[in-house]
Amino acid sequence: MRILLLGPPASGKGTQGRKLAESLGLRYLSTGALLRKNVERKTPLGLEVEKYLNRGDYVPDDLITPILIDWLEQHPPETGWVLDGYPRSLSQAQSLDAWLAAHSLDIHFAVSLEVPEEELLNRISSRVECPSCHWSGQFVQLNANSDCPKCGAPASRRADDGKENFHNRYQKFTQHTLPVINHYKAVGKLIPVPATAPKEEVAQSILSAVGGT
Ligand code: AMP
Repeated sequence: MRILLLGPPASGKGTQGRKLAESLGLRYLSTGALLRKNVERKTPLGLEVEKYLNRGDYVPDDLITPILIDWLEQHPPETGWVLDGYPRSLSQAQSLDAWLAAHSLDIHFAVSLEVPEEELLNRISSRVECPSCHWSGQFVQLNANSDCPKCGAPASRRADDGKENFHNRYQKFTQHTLPVINHYKAVGKLIPVPATAPKEEVAQSILSAVGGT
C-alpha cells in the first residue's frame, strides 16, 4: 500500500505516520525529519536548508524532490510506504505522480489530518520531540521536565516551533498544500480524518479508513 499523509504543522503527521507504517508493515519517510537530522548533523544539505527551516519556509523543489526520488529508488517499486510531508505543493505532486506513472504505480490513499488553527497553535507552543526515538508530545509529559517518557533520552522543543515560524508555516500550508489536498480529492484518493481526538483514537480512525482493520 502507498499512502500520503498531509496536514498542517503540528497536526500529528509524524506520530500518526510512524504508527500507520508500523501497523501496516510499510516503510516510512518524513521529509521534515530527514531535513532536521541533516541540519543537526551540519551536513552540506543541512547547511543549505537550515535557513528555510528556521524561517518556516518550504525548501525549494530542486533540493527536496531529488531526495524524495532517491529514497523511492532505493526501495523496490512494489514496497509499500507512508510519505509524511511530501508532496507539499502541486509541483511536488506532479513530480511524484510522474515517478509513479513511470513505474506503473499509483498511490492508494492521501490521508489529510484536520485540526483547527487555534488548536495547532496550542500544540506548537508546548510541543517537545525526542531526537532519539521520535516520540512527540507536550512538555508536561516529560520525565523530570526534560526526558522522553518513551526512551528516556533528553527531549526538547523543535528549533522551528516558534509562534512567528508557525504562522509562516501555516500560511505556506494554506497557500501551497491545500491545493494538493484538493488535487487528491478530485482524483478520489482523499481520506479526510479529524485529528483532534487522543492519538490512539486518531490512529484507529486512519487504520479503519485505509482498510487496515
Ligand atoms: P515537517 O516536519 O513536515 O513539519 O517539516 C518541517 C520543515 O521541513 C517544513 O516547514 C519545511 O521547511 C521543510 N520541508 C519538509 N518537507 C518538505 C517538502 N516536501 N517541501 C519543502 N519543504 C519541506
